Amino acid sequence: MEIRMVDLHGQYLRIKAEIDHAIQSVVDSTAFIKGKEVKQFTESLSSYLGNAHVIACANGTDALQIAMMALGLKPGDEVILPAHTYPATAEVIALLGLTPVFTDVDADTFNIDVSQIEKKITRRTKAIVPVHLYGQCADMDPILELASGYKLKTVEDAAQSIGATYKKSHSGTIGDIGTTSFFPTKNLGCFGDGGAIITRDAQLAENLLMIANHGQKKKYHHEIVGVNSRLDTMQAAILNVKLKYLDEYQRKRNEAASYYDKALKGVDGIGIPARAENSTHVFHQYTLRATRRDDLKTYLQSKGIPSIIYYPVPAHLQPAYRQASAPEGTFPVAEQLAKEVLSLPMHTELTEEQLDYICSTVISFYRG
Ligand SMILES: *Cc1c(COP(=O)(O)O)cnc(C)c1O
Repeated sequence: MEIRMVDLHGQYLRIKAEIDHAIQSVVDSTAFIKGKEVKQFTESLSSYLGNAHVIACANGTDALQIAMMALGLKPGDEVILPAHTYPATAEVIALLGLTPVFTDVDADTFNIDVSQIEKKITRRTKAIVPVHLYGQCADMDPILELASGYKLKTVEDAAQSIGATYKKSHSGTIGDIGTTSFFPTKNLGCFGDGGAIITRDAQLAENLLMIANHGQKKKYHHEIVGVNSRLDTMQAAILNVKLKYLDEYQRKRNEAASYYDKALKGVDGIGIPARAENSTHVFHQYTLRATRRDDLKTYLQSKGIPSIIYYPVPAHLQPAYRQASAPEGTFPVAEQLAKEVLSLPMHTELTEEQLDYICSTVISFYRG
């Protein structure tokens, strides 16, 4: 039995005819950039997300960068973000000369610990970037309350949470701006790189679009310094097909997660992922807290089961963000999670037989 961390090929085979047709029609049209499929996709995603404005771009990191550029921040301005995240979040902040200010995370939900945010706010703080990690939303209400009290902007990193809702609102549509990624292994993945920026504010949407398009509204009239960040027509055509299946994909991920929960609950040495109170979970990852994590990973590997550590080094201990670094011990939860987290295979094609084999192997590691 072959078990994959992600089964993109199996997922493709189910919708092969539709995908192949979509790709071929882009080839036939040769409208590889700015073809009609791009507009179709941003409109469909917009309606999926409850009619927020959607601007397509080249990847999720660009989406974050363009979002930060649209806020009009000045070098040295501070941006608060969680220490346990994919480093792209901190990278774009540092790249723009802003100062990332890390914050510890919640031990149960793995998302930013909202009780730690207020004491990080200074005169220079301008924005908060909650990351909806592994597929469920950070606790947005208290974050928005702080943001409104201190006049801060919020940018939601929804790269892992497309389709998840917080109190009925889609992730990415709650703060001033949301960003997401269509990297192939994300819940809504294309066949290459892709990303999008989301906002409910029409003025911001116009600025975001302009920044992503070389700072121009009218061709060759550059009002501000922008970037070149586009979603290819081919990727948009693929995403048009896959968006129709997104809810079904999320259901399959949830079924796999429930299977894991049931089998692994109460096993000594393991903490199964907690469900946040006000959010649905789309299980971009199914992430355990595991004692003897590294030994478990090696054991699973020896039994043909892949697993991945997201993320082995907390952001505040990365040399790249040294200017914002805090000594080891500053964020005990993020540091402990880096030692304990392990993500099990999670995708839309997992069979009961595979899930059963994975669970019984995990259990046999702890119970012998
Ligand atoms: C994947 C991811 C990104 C970056 O997306 P890319 O498309 O790879 O640039 C940013 N933030 C988080 C939380 C991610 O998981």
